[in-house]
Amino acid sequence: MGTKPVRIDNRKREKARRRRQTAATRAAVFAAALVLVAVLVVAGIIRHHKKTQTVQNDTSAQTVSQTGNGQEEQNGTDSAQGQQISHTEAAGETLAGTQVQSVTAKGYAIQVVDGVTYIGGVMIANKSYSLPESYAPGDLLPEVKEAFAVMQKAAAAQGLNIYISSGYRSYSRQQTLYNNYVKSDGKALADTYSSRPGYSEHQTGLCFDLNTIDDSFGNTKESAWLEQHAQEYGFIIRFPKGKDAQTGYQYEPWHLRYLGIDMATKVYNSGLSLEEYLGITSEYAD
Ligand SMILES: [Zn+2]
Repeated sequence: MGTKPVRIDNRKREKARRRRQTAATRAAVFAAALVLVAVLVVAGIIRHHKKTQTVQNDTSAQTVSQTGNGQEEQNGTDSAQGQQISHTEAAGETLAGTQVQSVTAKGYAIQVVDGVTYIGGVMIANKSYSLPESYAPGDLLPEVKEAFAVMQKAAAAQGLNIYISSGYRSYSRQQTLYNNYVKSDGKALADTYSSRPGYSEHQTGLCFDLNTIDDSFGNTKESAWLEQHAQEYGFIIRFPKGKDAQTGYQYEPWHLRYLGIDMATKVYNSGLSLEEYLGITSEYAD
Protein backbone atom coordinates (compact mmCIF):
# COMPACT_ATOMS: atom_id res chain seq x y z
CA MET A 1 0.00 0.00 0.00
CA GLY A 2 2.72 2.47 1.04
CA THR A 3 4.92 2.15 -2.09
CA LYS A 4 2.19 2.36 -4.75
CA PRO A 5 1.30 6.06 -4.37
CA VAL A 6 5.01 6.92 -4.45
CA ARG A 7 5.39 5.12 -7.79
CA ILE A 8 2.35 6.93 -9.16
CA ASP A 9 3.79 10.22 -7.99
CA ASN A 10 7.09 9.45 -9.68
CA ARG A 11 5.38 8.52 -12.90
CA LYS A 12 3.26 11.69 -12.78
CA ARG A 13 6.33 13.82 -12.16
CA GLU A 14 8.15 12.10 -15.00
CA LYS A 15 5.20 12.71 -17.37
CA ALA A 16 4.97 16.35 -16.36
CA ARG A 17 8.72 16.77 -16.90
CA ARG A 18 8.44 15.30 -20.39
CA ARG A 19 5.49 17.57 -21.20
CA ARG A 20 7.49 20.60 -20.10
CA GLN A 21 10.45 19.45 -22.16
CA THR A 22 8.30 18.89 -25.28
CA ALA A 23 6.64 22.29 -24.87
CA ALA A 24 10.03 23.96 -24.52
CA THR A 25 11.33 22.22 -27.67
CA ARG A 26 8.21 23.23 -29.62
CA ALA A 27 8.55 26.83 -28.51
CA ALA A 28 12.20 26.88 -29.57
CA VAL A 29 11.42 25.40 -33.02
CA PHE A 30 8.52 27.85 -33.47
CA ALA A 31 10.73 30.82 -32.56
CA ALA A 32 13.43 29.67 -34.97
CA ALA A 33 10.87 29.29 -37.75
CA LEU A 34 9.53 32.79 -37.06
CA VAL A 35 13.02 34.27 -37.32
CA LEU A 36 13.61 32.39 -40.61
CA VAL A 37 10.32 33.63 -42.10
CA ALA A 38 11.13 37.20 -41.08
CA VAL A 39 14.56 37.00 -42.71
CA LEU A 40 13.07 35.62 -45.95
CA VAL A 41 10.37 38.32 -46.05
CA VAL A 42 12.91 41.11 -45.56
CA ALA A 43 15.22 39.61 -48.21
CA GLY A 44 12.26 39.32 -50.59
CA ILE A 45 11.26 42.94 -50.07
CA ILE A 46 14.82 44.13 -50.75
CA ARG A 47 15.07 42.01 -53.90
CA HIS A 48 11.69 43.13 -55.20
CA HIS A 49 12.60 46.76 -54.54
CA LYS A 50 15.84 46.40 -56.54
CA LYS A 51 14.04 44.62 -59.39
CA THR A 52 11.32 47.29 -59.57
CA GLN A 53 13.98 49.97 -59.83
CA THR A 54 15.65 48.08 -62.70
CA VAL A 55 12.38 47.79 -64.59
CA GLN A 56 11.60 51.47 -64.08
CA ASN A 57 15.04 52.45 -65.34
CA ASP A 58 14.63 50.16 -68.33
CA THR A 59 11.24 51.62 -69.18
CA SER A 60 12.52 55.19 -69.19
CA ALA A 61 15.46 54.15 -71.36
CA GLN A 62 13.00 52.53 -73.78
CA THR A 63 10.85 55.62 -74.00
CA VAL A 64 13.86 57.80 -74.74
CA SER A 65 15.20 55.47 -77.42
CA GLN A 66 11.85 55.24 -79.11
CA THR A 67 10.98 58.88 -79.43
CA GLY A 68 11.92 59.69 -82.98
CA ASN A 69 10.30 57.66 -85.69
CA GLY A 70 9.84 54.54 -83.62
CA GLN A 71 11.37 52.33 -86.28
CA GLU A 72 15.03 52.73 -85.58
CA GLU A 73 17.15 51.63 -82.74
CA GLN A 74 19.15 54.77 -82.35
CA ASN A 75 21.62 53.59 -79.76
CA GLY A 76 25.21 52.56 -80.31
CA THR A 77 26.36 49.02 -79.80
CA ASP A 78 27.29 49.57 -76.15
CA SER A 79 23.97 50.96 -75.01
CA ALA A 80 22.14 48.36 -77.11
CA GLN A 81 24.02 45.71 -75.17
CA GLY A 82 22.96 47.34 -71.92
CA GLN A 83 19.38 47.42 -73.10
CA GLN A 84 19.41 43.74 -73.91
CA ILE A 85 20.51 42.94 -70.38
CA SER A 86 17.81 45.13 -68.87
CA HIS A 87 15.20 43.55 -71.13
CA THR A 88 16.17 40.14 -69.85
CA GLU A 89 15.75 41.31 -66.28
CA ALA A 90 12.36 42.76 -67.12
CA ALA A 91 11.12 39.38 -68.37
CA GLY A 92 7.81 38.43 -66.85
CA GLU A 93 7.44 41.68 -64.91
CA THR A 94 4.15 43.42 -65.33
CA LEU A 95 4.28 46.97 -64.14
CA ALA A 96 1.35 49.35 -64.40
CA GLY A 97 1.92 52.09 -66.97
CA THR A 98 4.51 50.26 -69.07
CA GLN A 99 3.92 48.62 -72.41
CA VAL A 100 6.74 46.11 -72.00
CA GLN A 101 4.86 42.83 -72.21
CA SER A 102 7.68 40.34 -72.63
CA VAL A 103 10.99 39.90 -74.36
CA THR A 104 12.22 37.84 -77.31
CA ALA A 105 14.78 35.03 -77.23
CA LYS A 106 17.42 37.70 -77.92
CA GLY A 107 16.19 39.97 -75.13
CA TYR A 108 14.35 42.58 -77.24
CA ALA A 109 11.23 44.07 -75.70
CA ILE A 110 7.91 43.11 -77.31
CA GLN A 111 5.49 46.02 -77.14
CA VAL A 112 1.96 46.19 -78.50
CA VAL A 113 0.59 49.67 -79.17
CA ASP A 114 -2.99 49.87 -80.52
CA GLY A 115 -2.69 46.29 -81.73
CA VAL A 116 0.60 46.95 -83.58
CA THR A 117 3.64 44.95 -82.42
CA TYR A 118 7.04 46.60 -82.00
CA ILE A 119 10.05 44.41 -81.22
CA GLY A 120 13.17 46.22 -80.10
CA GLY A 121 11.41 49.32 -81.46
CA VAL A 122 10.88 47.77 -84.92
CA MET A 123 7.33 47.42 -86.24
CA ILE A 124 6.78 43.77 -87.08
CA ALA A 125 4.24 42.18 -89.42
CA ASN A 126 4.99 38.54 -90.18
CA LYS A 127 3.26 35.17 -89.79
CA SER A 128 3.56 35.34 -85.99
CA TYR A 129 2.66 39.02 -85.48
CA SER A 130 -0.29 40.51 -87.33
CA LEU A 131 -1.55 44.05 -87.79
CA PRO A 132 -5.10 45.10 -86.94
CA GLU A 133 -7.41 46.13 -89.77
CA SER A 134 -7.41 49.64 -88.25
CA TYR A 135 -3.70 50.13 -88.96
CA ALA A 136 -3.85 51.90 -92.30
CA PRO A 137 -1.22 54.55 -93.12
CA GLY A 138 -2.74 54.68 -96.64
CA ASP A 139 0.62 54.89 -98.42
CA LEU A 140 4.33 54.32 -97.95
CA LEU A 141 5.50 56.47 -95.04
CA PRO A 142 7.21 59.75 -96.06
CA GLU A 143 10.63 58.71 -94.69
CA VAL A 144 10.42 55.51 -96.77
CA LYS A 145 9.69 57.46 -99.95
CA GLU A 146 12.55 59.86 -99.21
CA ALA A 147 15.01 57.02 -98.52
CA PHE A 148 13.92 55.25 -101.71
CA ALA A 149 14.43 58.40 -103.78
CA VAL A 150 18.01 58.69 -102.48
CA MET A 151 18.66 55.00 -103.22
CA GLN A 152 17.11 55.23 -106.69
CA LYS A 153 19.37 58.17 -107.52
CA ALA A 154 22.46 56.30 -106.32
CA ALA A 155 21.45 53.27 -108.40
CA ALA A 156 20.89 55.49 -111.45
CA ALA A 157 24.42 56.89 -111.01
CA GLN A 158 25.60 53.29 -111.53
CA GLY A 159 23.45 52.96 -114.66
CA LEU A 160 20.83 50.90 -112.82
CA ASN A 161 17.08 51.33 -112.94
CA ILE A 162 15.01 50.53 -109.86
CA TYR A 163 11.36 51.42 -109.43
CA ILE A 164 8.58 50.53 -106.99
CA SER A 165 6.02 48.18 -108.52
CA SER A 166 4.05 47.43 -105.32
CA GLY A 167 4.12 49.52 -102.16
CA TYR A 168 1.45 49.95 -99.52
CA ARG A 169 -1.42 47.47 -99.43
CA SER A 170 -4.38 47.89 -97.08
CA TYR A 171 -5.86 45.10 -94.98
CA SER A 172 -8.93 44.87 -97.22
CA ARG A 173 -6.82 44.83 -100.41
CA GLN A 174 -4.78 41.94 -98.99
CA GLN A 175 -8.01 40.20 -97.94
CA THR A 176 -9.31 40.37 -101.53
CA LEU A 177 -6.00 39.08 -102.95
CA TYR A 178 -5.68 36.26 -100.43
CA ASN A 179 -9.32 35.16 -100.77
CA ASN A 180 -8.95 34.97 -104.55
CA TYR A 181 -5.80 32.83 -104.22
CA VAL A 182 -7.57 30.54 -101.72
CA LYS A 183 -10.50 30.18 -104.13
CA SER A 184 -8.30 29.17 -107.06
CA ASP A 185 -5.49 27.24 -105.29
CA GLY A 186 -6.81 26.25 -101.86
CA LYS A 187 -5.68 27.58 -98.49
CA ALA A 188 -2.59 25.40 -98.08
CA LEU A 189 -1.08 26.45 -101.41
CA ALA A 190 -2.17 30.10 -101.08
CA ASP A 191 -0.36 30.29 -97.73
CA THR A 192 2.94 29.44 -99.42
CA TYR A 193 3.01 32.58 -101.59
CA SER A 194 0.43 35.05 -100.26
CA SER A 195 0.05 36.58 -96.80
CA ARG A 196 -3.21 36.35 -94.94
CA PRO A 197 -4.87 39.74 -94.35
CA GLY A 198 -3.19 41.47 -91.39
CA TYR A 199 -0.02 39.44 -91.81
CA SER A 200 1.39 41.21 -94.86
CA GLU A 201 4.33 43.53 -94.31
CA HIS A 202 2.94 45.66 -97.16
CA GLN A 203 0.30 46.91 -94.69
CA THR A 204 3.03 48.62 -92.62
CA GLY A 205 3.83 51.25 -95.26
CA LEU A 206 7.50 50.41 -94.64
CA CYS A 207 8.20 48.00 -97.51
CA PHE A 208 7.83 47.63 -101.25
CA ASP A 209 8.46 45.31 -104.16
CA LEU A 210 10.83 46.51 -106.87
CA ASN A 211 10.84 46.03 -110.63
CA THR A 212 9.62 42.67 -111.92
CA ILE A 213 8.20 40.67 -109.04
CA ASP A 214 9.56 37.26 -109.99
CA ASP A 215 12.62 35.09 -109.43
CA SER A 216 14.34 36.36 -112.60
CA PHE A 217 14.89 39.69 -110.80
CA GLY A 218 17.48 37.89 -108.67
CA ASN A 219 19.70 37.56 -111.77
CA THR A 220 19.75 41.28 -112.60
CA LYS A 221 22.51 43.83 -111.93
CA GLU A 222 19.96 45.83 -109.97
CA SER A 223 19.37 42.94 -107.58
CA ALA A 224 23.13 42.36 -107.15
CA TRP A 225 23.62 46.06 -106.34
CA LEU A 226 20.71 46.07 -103.83
CA GLU A 227 22.15 42.99 -102.09
CA GLN A 228 25.36 45.00 -101.50
CA HIS A 229 24.09 48.51 -100.89
CA ALA A 230 20.41 48.63 -99.78
CA GLN A 231 21.38 48.95 -96.08
CA GLU A 232 23.34 52.14 -96.85
CA TYR A 233 19.97 53.75 -97.60
CA GLY A 234 18.07 52.18 -94.69
CA PHE A 235 16.70 49.05 -96.36
CA ILE A 236 17.18 45.31 -96.02
CA ILE A 237 16.32 42.47 -98.40
CA ARG A 238 13.59 41.26 -96.06
CA PHE A 239 13.38 37.61 -97.18
CA PRO A 240 16.98 36.54 -97.83
CA LYS A 241 18.10 33.40 -99.63
CA GLY A 242 18.04 30.25 -97.49
CA LYS A 243 16.08 31.82 -94.62
CA ASP A 244 12.62 30.45 -95.51
CA ALA A 245 12.30 28.62 -92.19
CA GLN A 246 13.11 31.78 -90.22
CA THR A 247 11.19 34.43 -92.17
CA GLY A 248 8.30 32.21 -93.28
CA TYR A 249 8.90 33.23 -96.92
CA GLN A 250 11.06 32.12 -99.83
CA TYR A 251 13.84 34.35 -101.16
CA GLU A 252 12.29 37.54 -102.51
CA PRO A 253 15.09 39.69 -103.95
CA TRP A 254 12.52 42.36 -104.89
CA HIS A 255 10.97 42.87 -101.43
CA LEU A 256 12.77 45.58 -99.43
CA ARG A 257 11.94 46.69 -95.90
CA TYR A 258 12.82 50.09 -94.42
CA LEU A 259 14.54 50.04 -91.01
CA GLY A 260 16.55 53.25 -91.09
CA ILE A 261 20.27 53.26 -91.88
CA ASP A 262 21.54 52.31 -88.38
CA MET A 263 19.27 49.31 -87.87
CA ALA A 264 19.46 48.16 -91.51
CA THR A 265 23.27 48.24 -91.29
CA LYS A 266 23.28 46.26 -88.04
CA VAL A 267 20.99 43.58 -89.49
CA TYR A 268 22.98 43.47 -92.76
CA ASN A 269 26.31 43.13 -90.93
CA SER A 270 24.90 40.34 -88.74
CA GLY A 271 24.20 38.21 -91.81
CA LEU A 272 20.92 37.26 -90.16
CA SER A 273 17.31 37.61 -91.23
CA LEU A 274 15.34 40.19 -89.22
CA GLU A 275 13.59 37.34 -87.37
CA GLU A 276 16.91 35.80 -86.30
CA TYR A 277 18.37 39.20 -85.40
CA LEU A 278 15.45 39.99 -83.09
CA GLY A 279 14.99 36.41 -81.88
CA ILE A 280 11.42 35.90 -83.11
CA THR A 281 9.50 33.41 -85.24
CA SER A 282 7.30 33.79 -88.31
CA GLU A 283 4.71 31.05 -88.20
CA TYR A 284 0.94 31.06 -88.43
CA ALA A 285 -0.68 29.84 -85.22
CA ASP A 286 -2.94 27.50 -87.23
ZN1 LIG B 1 6.53 42.28 -101.11
